[in-house]
Amino acid sequence: FRGFIGACIDIHDRKMAETVLQESEKRLRELMEAQKRFVADAAHELRTPLTAIQGNLDILIRYQHIPEVEKKEIIGDVQREATRLGRLVHDMLQLARGDSGATMREDEIDLGRMVLETWRETERVYSSHCFVLHEVQPVRLLGDHDRLKQVVLILLENALKYTPAGGEVHLNLENQQSHALLTVQDTGMGISAEDLPRVFERFYRADKSRHRAEDPGGTGLGLPIARWVVEAHQGRIWLESELDRGTTVHVQLPIKLEESS
Ligand code: ADP
Repeated sequence: FRGFIGACIDIHDRKMAETVLQESEKRLRELMEAQKRFVADAAHELRTPLTAIQGNLDILIRYQHIPEVEKKEIIGDVQREATRLGRLVHDMLQLARGDSGATMREDEIDLGRMVLETWRETERVYSSHCFVLHEVQPVRLLGDHDRLKQVVLILLENALKYTPAGGEVHLNLENQQSHALLTVQDTGMGISAEDLPRVFERFYRADKSRHRAEDPGGTGLGLPIARWVVEAHQGRIWLESELDRGTTVHVQLPIKLEESS
């Protein structure tokens, strides 16, 4: 960056150098602000399950004669909160890696096959929903297999989490020559127009999903991780949703292949 400024001065364009400097300072300030916000939000999010674990353990230690059934419930709560804590730490580490510029692999992958495999694996686990597979066209592209699989999993798991049992989850993959278009659609609770622009913010969870009795306790980091991976592949991810009707998520990935293939 100093070298760049030097080059600008060399060509006697101090004004340009100043502008570059100002822009860089502004960008740096914004990044530092975002980092500070992330740390504050992370601390807040981690505190919630930790407080619940501590509170429950206190009860177990303090009261010796708790009925066996209640004891089991408390231990179950501790286990759930510990799992949530683990998930939060795992997701935060992923995003931190993204922030520090972790790069994606560029392997030639069979996207169609990976999407289909992920779909089948998910279908086996959740018998509660109706899985509707549309078309999965053959697509090969350069990308990071594991990270892209994670994106598909995040979208399928969200569709399942936010769709009551008995609802439908649809999947479609199209090869549009210059890019692949993956669509995951559900018939679930949907997202309000107010919440929709914010779902890619870190830790953001729509009010409605937070306050459900059967809230599976998301981290609010799934979509930010998906966006990081998709954008690192020079792709695009966007959502359409209607409250109480369902959500559709689109992922567009450019089809790049090795020259020789
Ligand atoms: P979470 O771990 O909470 O699912 P995400 O970042 O994946 O975090 O999603 C952020 C929020 O967006 C969710 O908490 C939920 O409110 C909303 N959301 C995401 N996907 C869906 C969906 N398919 N249907 C309804 N709401 C969704």
